[in-house]
Amino acid sequence: PDLAADVLAGLRDIPDFPVNGVVFKDFTPVLLDHALRSRIIADVVDRRRGQVDVVAGIEARGFILGAVIAHELGVGFVPVRKEGKLPSAVHAQSYSLEYGTATLEIHQDAVSHGERVLVVDDVLATGGTLAATCELVERCGASVAAIELVLEIGPLEGRSKLTGYDVRSTVTI
Ligand code: IMP
Repeated sequence: PDLAADVLAGLRDIPDFPVNGVVFKDFTPVLLDHALRSRIIADVVDRRRGQVDVVAGIEARGFILGAVIAHELGVGFVPVRKEGKLPSAVHAQSYSLEYGTATLEIHQDAVSHGERVLVVDDVLATGGTLAATCELVERCGASVAAIELVLEIGPLEGRSKLTGYDVRSTVTI
């Protein structure tokens, strides 16, 4: 069975969301499909088992995948959140999005010096979100072991902002 083809078939195109001119790749049908979701998770877990100390998931869809991956790997989970949501002392990183600007935050004590962090999100578009997250992980003194995504939108060249990292996507379009 071709996992990439099945994920591609499960994604839904939503025109003009969240703003006019953007075609949003809606990933919720993939979440709804237990068998498909399990295959995505198993693929990541098989590849990364024994190689990471903690999983960092990016709000909000990275939480859904990242928490399950962390559970399966038997390691901790760290939320990387939008500005103002985390209650304790944070590192903050601002970045530009495909549509607008944003700030992400991580608890300063969420990951320890030298830990190997697996960063998880649903979609790699322009790469700003992932680049900011990697910066936050490194500001904590930890290292980014790898980045796992479900969907990579190739023409937006997000990978060019992630040079030097092990970036893997289930599907690239
Ligand atoms: P980037 O920073 O431009 O790479 O955007 C990636 C972030 O925006 C991720 O957190 C994604 O969840 C979200 N995102 C951007 N485009 C899409 C899309 O078409 N579908 C779902 N999420 C998207």
